[in-house]
Amino acid sequence: MSFAHFPPMPDFPPGEVWLAGAGPGDPRLLTLLALHAVSAADDIVHDALIDPRVLTLRRDGAELIPAGKRGGRPSPHQNEINGILIDRARAGRRVLRLKGGDPFVFGRGWDEVLALAEAGIRYRLIPGITSGLAATALAGIPATTRDTNHAVVLAAGHRADDDQSSADWVALARLGQPVILYMPMTQLAGITVALMKGGMAADTPAALLHAATTEQEKVVDSTLARLVEDAQVNGIGSPAIVVIGAVAGLRRQVLSGLVGWR
Ligand code: SAH
Repeated sequence: MSFAHFPPMPDFPPGEVWLAGAGPGDPRLLTLLALHAVSAADDIVHDALIDPRVLTLRRDGAELIPAGKRGGRPSPHQNEINGILIDRARAGRRVLRLKGGDPFVFGRGWDEVLALAEAGIRYRLIPGITSGLAATALAGIPATTRDTNHAVVLAAGHRADDDQSSADWVALARLGQPVILYMPMTQLAGITVALMKGGMAADTPAALLHAATTEQEKVVDSTLARLVEDAQVNGIGSPAIVVIGAVAGLRRQVLSGLVGWR
């Protein structure tokens, strides 16, 4: 393996903030740029969901600053996190803000970019593999196929700041496109009922994808109507992705040859 023909890795100048996605967990799913960022940063401000194996790649002396937002547990306010990034950058540190998956998919990355821009801090953006697409692909579920769908909906099951009206879900169901739910567990019962109300068949294939690419990984095949029960019976908690749609049923056809992620 030779990287000789690759563009060189960018310098990480003191005083910059790099906002990077770490992918779904397994460090081998980091991008090369994210790997470079982890190994070059002075400070790594990271989410609770960042796999500890990723953080072992940091350089000696790098400081880890946990800033996770996790449903139900005390976590720093967004303003506080923004403040940490700005203060550290102004102190001349190379600051890596490391988020699970992709920073701009339900990751509040935009809030941080706005704060950095407003504070006049230079920043770099490094996308990551979002868990909704990684967990599905690894389980043998295609996000799209020519025969099943021409769009796919990435939706947050849980929104911290406001009530999600079931009308939104009824409308989504009417699109007839598969739904990939992030943070699905707390509202799952209400969401499944609303999707059925919107016309999605009760027996629409579904899958629960728990802790993809970690030792705790579990994949449970289900249907729209049985999701809540199947989650309970199989002890599926956070973090999990739920896929609802014909694509979720396709994996059964290909499982015999599918080699696991390890
Ligand atoms: N920015 C992240 C999402 C942050 S929201 C991304 O792009 O993936 C946090 C949610 O992501 C979790 O509640 C869960 O729904 C999902 N998630 C993150 N990592 C996961 C994993 N390894 N397996 C399953 N779901 C995961």
